[in-house]
Amino acid sequence: MIPSAFTYERVHTVDEALASLAANPEAKLIAGGHSLLPLMKMRLAAPAALVDIQAIRNLHGVREVDGQVVIGALTTHAEISAHPVVRSLLPALAEAAAQIGDLQVRNRGTIGGNLAHADPSSDLPAVALAYNATLRGLSPAGEFALPADGFFLGPLTTAMPEGAVLTEIAFDVPPAGTQSVYQKVPHPASGYAVVGVAAVIGTDENGCFNYVRIGVTGAGDVAYRAVAAEAALMGQPPTDEAIQAAAGHAAEDGVMGEDLYASADYRAHLVQVHTARAIRRALP
Ligand SMILES: Cc1cc2nc3c(=O)[nH]c(=O)nc-3n(C[C@H](O)[C@H](O)[C@H](O)COP(=O)(O)OP(=O)(O)OC[C@H]3O[C@@H](n4cnc5c(N)ncnc54)[C@H](O)[C@@H]3O)c2cc1C
Repeated sequence: MIPSAFTYERVHTVDEALASLAANPEAKLIAGGHSLLPLMKMRLAAPAALVDIQAIRNLHGVREVDGQVVIGALTTHAEISAHPVVRSLLPALAEAAAQIGDLQVRNRGTIGGNLAHADPSSDLPAVALAYNATLRGLSPAGEFALPADGFFLGPLTTAMPEGAVLTEIAFDVPPAGTQSVYQKVPHPASGYAVVGVAAVIGTDENGCFNYVRIGVTGAGDVAYRAVAAEAALMGQPPTDEAIQAAAGHAAEDGVMGEDLYASADYRAHLVQVHTARAIRRALP
């Protein structure tokens, strides 16, 4: 439980962070440390140098810009879950952030670290997919802006360029009148998502579904959008039959994983059940 030796540097700007990463290919950024340090203690990661980005001031905070809520990469889960703008415009994000780990994890862990780490059981990838988030940052090649759809490539693997710093995440504010929720089955030991479903749902004046985005995490190696379930729900009346039928497609776009706790079939079942629950909860 003791990490291998590493050097430590605290930087104050994104440019300094980029320069440190460029100077040492064995270096890794550290934000809240709540995913990286456990890996280092188990010797599953052994970076030769840690570049601490916590002191970069302009990577903290939440702001509203042109129909989006933009959240600095260093904003903590606790700040996000309590923020009035997030609670009112992105309630599924507030709900998910409030369920991450325990108080200490939420006070230290950051949204940028959570998404950049791409743990298959993390909560926030599902929410980023459901709200059509864009992940922005800087790399040695310049600025990048990557849609959440396509960002998560595998366990601990993302589409971010090498040596990059994720600076902020821009969430689309869904159309007025939509509701959004996050529905989680926590692992009883770790609290991580065995399955997590984020749903953003809208209905027209007749009550039929006219806006549907569903993100799923925990079920396999990569968080995914449940596109088949979204398509099956669009245009349908808000009946139990229509919701059940659409939710029955919710595992089709992902590859279910299995471990000692949950088989692939059980995970697919959980995805379907909790997609249906999320849709029902999001009805006006
Ligand atoms: C006991 C415990 C329970 C937890 N439970 C949950 C849970 O229920 N749900 C959940 O979703 N998570 C859970 N977590 C993980 C937690 O949310 C982490 O805080 C989060 O996943 C990583 O954020 P961090 O700021 O701690 O990142 P760090 O650990 O500092 O970094 C993680 C990785 O991201 C990289 N990184 C960090 N910031 C950036 C950046 N700005 N740009 C580029 N790369 C960056 C680092 O180099 C590193 O590879 C838990 C953690 C613990 C210890």
